[in-house]
Amino acid sequence: MKKFACMLLLLLFFVVILPGHGQAAAATNKIFLDGQELTAGQDVPVENVNNSIMVPLRMIAENLGYKVDWNQTSKTVTIEQQGKTMQLIVNQTAASVDGKTVILTTSPLLRNGTTLVPIRFIGEQFGLTVKWDNTKKIVDLITPEIPDSNTETGGSSGDGGTVVVPPDDAANGLSMINGISFNENRLTIALEGNTQPKVSKVTGPDRIVIDLPNATFSDVFGTGQQLDPNLNGMLTVTDYPEVSGIRYSLYSTNPYTVRFVIDLNTSKNYSVEVSGDVSKLIVIDLNAQSTGDTSTQPGNSGRKLVVLDAGHGAKDSGAVGVTGKYEKNFNLAVILKAAELLKQENKIDVVLTRSDDTFLELKDRAAIANNLKADLFISVHANSSGSSAASGTETYYQREASKALANVMHKYLVQATGLSDRGVRYGNFHVIRETTMPAVLLEVGYLSNKNDEALLFTESLQNKVAASMVSGIKEYLGVQ
Ligand SMILES: [Zn+2]
Repeated sequence: MKKFACMLLLLLFFVVILPGHGQAAAATNKIFLDGQELTAGQDVPVENVNNSIMVPLRMIAENLGYKVDWNQTSKTVTIEQQGKTMQLIVNQTAASVDGKTVILTTSPLLRNGTTLVPIRFIGEQFGLTVKWDNTKKIVDLITPEIPDSNTETGGSSGDGGTVVVPPDDAANGLSMINGISFNENRLTIALEGNTQPKVSKVTGPDRIVIDLPNATFSDVFGTGQQLDPNLNGMLTVTDYPEVSGIRYSLYSTNPYTVRFVIDLNTSKNYSVEVSGDVSKLIVIDLNAQSTGDTSTQPGNSGRKLVVLDAGHGAKDSGAVGVTGKYEKNFNLAVILKAAELLKQENKIDVVLTRSDDTFLELKDRAAIANNLKADLFISVHANSSGSSAASGTETYYQREASKALANVMHKYLVQATGLSDRGVRYGNFHVIRETTMPAVLLEVGYLSNKNDEALLFTESLQNKVAASMVSGIKEYLGVQ
């Protein structure tokens, strides 16, 4: 009965649309499924939000045949198809697929009483290819061909109404690419899964092509790197004259293949290193000599991965200072500065839990570091106290394994702030408790204190704190 009530609610929810909003929108947005225009779900416009195509939930239910449920109280959308269950929450980027947390580039949102959901993410999870023509405002949904069909030709989608979804094991076997970086003539690709890179050198023009079979981009990827709705993107490289740029795309969906291309201004040799078990780092090193470089150990790139976490974000402002400044903004400013500095280190890779003013659950922050099997996790915060006199710098650890890191980080942090040394302390904070690597939480100063607040929002103090974090990280990791 509860389910019936839920569906009723869902129907009501879909039907209640403010009058007068339909006409203009319907003219400018079209949605095609395997070349056939879909007629329903267009009374609320398709939107392009931060390069995510957002479509009415009703479209998913009515046209793709997925089972859709809506919980008004928790603002949760549940989508089921072929044994796979997905839950998305309005205004939250954290979603779950079969109980596993994933981070969306754009959270579901409400428009005129209708829920809009990111079609690329949902379609991809259920095996669809999703394309968006921004000029014509057309969404193209393409169902996959049946993998073991007897005939290789054709690919006609026949009766139109049903959606073909690949078997579950095929969908689950995909490697997920979480991020890339380019430093010191090395391209680093972070991913989860078992894909093995196929790397080749191509001339005219010179380039290196890296194909990752059975792989796609995770939604974490889009939060850190440029990725358009067609799953194409570019990494701008400015500091390495031999490299003109790096392109990447979901090159094929049958079979799934992600392709990276390093565009070169001159022919270069390379070496490939793969480290890690399920969470892997693939390094394409352009420093290799033609005779073979012996300075790198096979199977271990020797590079360290640091996850930096700017506390709070978006609706969660964190502490509010005496003059009304938000902790979340301080945290992010310091993290971005530290990341810039770390990117110049050739033995350290850096991943941010957030790089803009977005909201992330604590468990998702820890999950990012754990999934990547990061070497270190550092969370930046500013403190607040009921007593306006409280002032100074603290560093927190929760697990014994994090104590040594806390001591090193604190030594540099206190020097940088010049505020009173309130010591290395035990603190039962989620992100440093639930992470599996050495993890610390820095409370740089007190926003409830007038002097601390003023100091923390100066560029020079933020630069000093960022530099102190890099010094602490390098000393702890033994990186020169
Ligand atoms: Zn905080």
